[in-house]
Amino acid sequence: MYLSKYFLPILKENPSEAQITSHRLMLRSGMIKQSSAGIYSWLPLGLKVLKKIESIVIEEQIAAGHIPILMPTIQSAELWRESKRLDDYGKEMLRFEDRHGRLMLYGPTNEELVTDIFRSFISSYKDLPKTLFHIQWKFRDEVRPRFGVMRGREFFMKDGYSFDIDKKSAIHAYNRHMISYLKTYERLGLKAIPMKADTGPIGGDYSHEFLVLASTGESQVFYDSNISDLSLGDNHIEYDNSSNLKSIVNKFTTPYARTDETHDVTLFEKIPENRRMSGRGIEVGQIFYFGTKYSESMGAKIDLPNGKRIPVEMGSHGIGVSRLVGALIEANHDQHGIIWPKAVSPFDAVIINLKQNDKKCHEISIKIYDILKVNGFDILYDDRFESVGAKFSSIDLIGIPIQIIVGPRGLSEGILEIKSRKDGIRKNIPLSENFLELINAIKI
Ligand code: ATP
Ligand code: MG
Repeated sequence: MYLSKYFLPILKENPSEAQITSHRLMLRSGMIKQSSAGIYSWLPLGLKVLKKIESIVIEEQIAAGHIPILMPTIQSAELWRESKRLDDYGKEMLRFEDRHGRLMLYGPTNEELVTDIFRSFISSYKDLPKTLFHIQWKFRDEVRPRFGVMRGREFFMKDGYSFDIDKKSAIHAYNRHMISYLKTYERLGLKAIPMKADTGPIGGDYSHEFLVLASTGESQVFYDSNISDLSLGDNHIEYDNSSNLKSIVNKFTTPYARTDETHDVTLFEKIPENRRMSGRGIEVGQIFYFGTKYSESMGAKIDLPNGKRIPVEMGSHGIGVSRLVGALIEANHDQHGIIWPKAVSPFDAVIINLKQNDKKCHEISIKIYDILKVNGFDILYDDRFESVGAKFSSIDLIGIPIQIIVGPRGLSEGILEIKSRKDGIRKNIPLSENFLELINAIKI
């Protein structure tokens, strides 16, 4: 993409409404525009990042054996009457009437809809287990939308629903979600800690929230520092191997890690003092096994081999896809702007032409651009007629991990410079016919 032809409405001034870094940087780098409180348009750069996160989430869900579907944003209130949640949900649910006077709502979550899909088509143990998921916009009329996409009213969420024959199998589904979520966050370059969450009136141990440590997080967190060393790494996960999954889950859930909602001072103080950590965290996901709460009220039943009919065991599992964009920026920025982890960067690299009106600089830049494109890279070419300072400050702001700097001095010496956005380290690359060294440098 040539920057002169792109749509990247960068703001020079700090927007006064932004209280936290990620919100400020998203507005300044032209990723989003607020349309009303807690509701945003996603501009090209923001949309690219959102879609990259979405694809990683989808890949990891499919790897775990979960099946993608797409349910609508608008739901009929009828199903919510059946589950008896219509009144309980309160003011966070946006309700309206259609032209026939039927009560409709913009879905804040999809347990009812998916349970209705399940009961319409599945009635035998032979069709289980099944986990259906989608990534769709949700609406919750939050009292205080704030921090940009972190606490929006309209937000993009992955929600998955597991259906199982019994509790044992449902816990296996829970474990699959725990591990596929950890894997997802790791691939995004984020450290998210599973913390025991409140299960409300349902009780039991089976809800965890995933928190990214950040000083601007809305949750107070307490944890054992040992948990920070854990990672799944590149190990292949056998999602059908339930005992193996269980031992991985045990490893991640044994060290103490809780938010203030479930914090237990007595337990916390049993950890050696030098390992007791506390801070703030951003909730980027939650998993929940809740048994037959919806299947019972909505009559989603399955036939067992012995002919008995029982309500199906369920769980629901969510990832805040749009919130992750903010969380990623909170975790990856410096005083100059965003520093995207490679996996979610809107472009793989950016070519900065230091002297746009120099014919040779432009020609070489285009040549590099074309070669990198042929090699499968997504490249931004800063071909604006701007000062060097203006180019660097806007390119640093938008956070593309690798900058390829083309200038008359370098070219006369037969070199290009590449700069890593993260640590500012510059490296010279000799100009060559095929740019092999450059290609290799970007691949790393
Ligand atoms: P919170 O406690 O932050 O209000 P929640 O527990 O109500 O979130 P869930 O129902 O668990 O949210 O939704 C799954 C995920 O969706 C959350 O972990 C979070 O990452 C994301 N999410 C929830 N509400 C919002 C929101 N208003 N804006 C952006 N993302 C959200
Ligand atoms: Mg939650």
